Amino acid sequence: MSSVSSQQRVVSGMRVSGKLHLGHYHGVIKNWLDLQYQYECFFFAADWHGLTTHYEDPAVLEANLTDMVIDWLACGINPGSATIFVQSQVLQHAELHLALSMITPLGWLERMPTYKDQQEKLKERDLATYGFLGYPVLMSADVLAYRAGYIPVGEDQTPHIEFTRELARRFNHLYGREPGYEENAEQAIKKMGKKNAKLYQQLRRKYLEQGDKEALDMGHALLEAQANINIEAKELLAGYLEGGGKIILPEPVGLYTPQSKYPGLDGQKMSKSYGNTISLRESESEIERKINTMQTDPARIRRTDPGNPDKCPVWQLHEIYSNDDVKSWVQDGCRNAKIGCLDCKQPICKAINQEVAPIREKAAEIAAKPSIVKNVLAEGAQKAREVAEETLVDVKSAMGVR
Ligand code: SF4
Repeated sequence: MSSVSSQQRVVSGMRVSGKLHLGHYHGVIKNWLDLQYQYECFFFAADWHGLTTHYEDPAVLEANLTDMVIDWLACGINPGSATIFVQSQVLQHAELHLALSMITPLGWLERMPTYKDQQEKLKERDLATYGFLGYPVLMSADVLAYRAGYIPVGEDQTPHIEFTRELARRFNHLYGREPGYEENAEQAIKKMGKKNAKLYQQLRRKYLEQGDKEALDMGHALLEAQANINIEAKELLAGYLEGGGKIILPEPVGLYTPQSKYPGLDGQKMSKSYGNTISLRESESEIERKINTMQTDPARIRRTDPGNPDKCPVWQLHEIYSNDDVKSWVQDGCRNAKIGCLDCKQPICKAINQEVAPIREKAAEIAAKPSIVKNVLAEGAQKAREVAEETLVDVKSAMGVR
């Protein structure tokens, strides 16, 4: 598939983390569940990424990987709709990472805000490594290998998107201009027929002379609709339209998805590293135990003490799960000491159990048949390789590597 028609592709990875918790489900998986039916999706288990920070713990990767993929499937990620695979099983990720590292200025990597932040956060690890510094290049390769149009992200990942776009632009600038480029472009325009050729030229001028973004979009749509020219000519003209060379690696854009900050049992963001999680396979009694021991407003020492839901992590869960009637009951009951915290937690226990019960059941079925995950990953890797190899052929040929 060409870069022109690959714009409806989405690529997203998740670090290998073992069994998923509710924070993963609300933060990532629910988005994936929507995206898989709207776009051509590639979802991968990012094992290489895990090694950039935890290179000393390779043994945990394998078991965690299977558990994570079991949960993806149990949640409804559908291998019939999305391509599911393991990053390291598609060698093109590593190969493109190497190719892109040749043209990545060191300064770009050193100024990434996450580079310093993570080093600070993970002080106990020695992260003065080449792999950790080059982590954004690997992230770019993950996406650019599929010439994806979109990357689902939260606001805090904007620097990574910008990095990927700049790197693609730099690559296209360095390698997109072949000898006779302009003559070839003019020849290709003629093949579109008089009317379309004229329209293309007008739109191109409007964009290049006036920066008219609408004209640019119309130009791309015009190219997409052309039946008279082949994919290669479309790619050439897509680059020519923007005043650059041939677009070998299209720039993806961020698909800003709603960010859910699912609270952990202590009110901080739910995360394994804080030990405040509820896993998607937790039993009903364990859910109840965890919620019932969850922190509440510290001012409510006795049942007769009035509380403030704004200072209580349990209220954050009511915001996610409860309807207006229940929320009013909590507000009134808490502020006027009409209900106890255990009463307040009951609807939450019920809602969480209802949410995870079908996932728990499905995960148990999938875990009992290890061939399911194995086959899904093998098929996914095969498909991903085929798509990524098309990009690698163009990339290597442009760089003069055979
Ligand atoms: Fe929190 Fe509910 Fe207790 Fe109020 S009544 S402190 S909202 S658990």
